[in-house]
Amino acid sequence: MMDLSFMPVTLEFKRPFKIAAGTRSTTPVVFTNITFHGLVGYGEASMPPYLGEDHQTVMSFLNKAKKVIAHHKDPFDIEGILLEVDQIGNGNTAAKASVDIALHDLVGKIVGKPWHALWNLDKTKTPYTTYTIGIDDADVIRQKVEEGASYKILKVKLDGVNDKEIISTIRSVTGKPIAVDVNQGWNDKEVALEMLHWLKERNVLFVEQPMPKGDVESMRWLTAHSPLPTIADESCQRLVDVEKMKGVFHGINIKLMKCTGMLEAYKMITLARKNNLKVLIGCMSETSCAVSAAAQLTPLADWADIDGPLLIKQDYFEGVRFEEGKIVLSESAGIGVKRREALFK
Ligand code: MG
Repeated sequence: MMDLSFMPVTLEFKRPFKIAAGTRSTTPVVFTNITFHGLVGYGEASMPPYLGEDHQTVMSFLNKAKKVIAHHKDPFDIEGILLEVDQIGNGNTAAKASVDIALHDLVGKIVGKPWHALWNLDKTKTPYTTYTIGIDDADVIRQKVEEGASYKILKVKLDGVNDKEIISTIRSVTGKPIAVDVNQGWNDKEVALEMLHWLKERNVLFVEQPMPKGDVESMRWLTAHSPLPTIADESCQRLVDVEKMKGVFHGINIKLMKCTGMLEAYKMITLARKNNLKVLIGCMSETSCAVSAAAQLTPLADWADIDGPLLIKQDYFEGVRFEEGKIVLSESAGIGVKRREALFK
């Protein structure tokens, strides 16, 4: 018999985290366990405000998912189980991801292999993770750049207010490549295009979600003229969105919490490649549990932005490591994590 259990936790940021959508000092997560014959698979839901989930919605969903899990006898029927979990209701993508991750972890542990090996991926092909710099005063930004000194690529949040000052501040201390995330913060496509040219001159690799997700036609125009790759984040959540991104963006940011987990993320990568879309694997503000699950897929990605655990005070799990920012996947089974037991007391 499989059993699903779960536990809500509030993670604290090391410093208040500001993006175009607002500032937060804490973020809610829910840890999940699926037990089966003495083995435990670990999962995690993390809920950024813009997706509309919170502790209450996730736990209410997981109470229903618990019944689905309880009546399944074969954990290897991943497709069948997760289809039934998906059909419990619309949305709830982080709650669904927490079940998907725990089930993948469990199955990997039953067969004694990590998922990157089960998918036959070459773990030397992992990209470097970016290191995130939130929107802040120049002093704090310079300090953050210093803290991220061992990372090879920075990810910089912009919001259309002090964008040039932020980039210039970073360029006053480092020339390393930058990935930019606007979180829908630019509203005028002509101004956006000028900004893309300005950024191109400053060693920027790509720009994520420059325009509001509802403004598809401006985004299509911007991508057609852009000197830099444009990447969909808020505009692309699940598998059904992937083909709609063709011609609107150059690539997509896949996050387990948006797309319901590892099973669908793998399918999204396959479909993105068929449509010549670039692939970024991202994360939310979450622990090494969910991030280690996402990391299993990164040998398939062009870029990765999975530094979530570095932004929070207490990482409840040990898992994926970064060497100078390069993602290092372990040979531990499942998603390759261990609980830091002291934090669970
Ligand atoms: Mg983003």
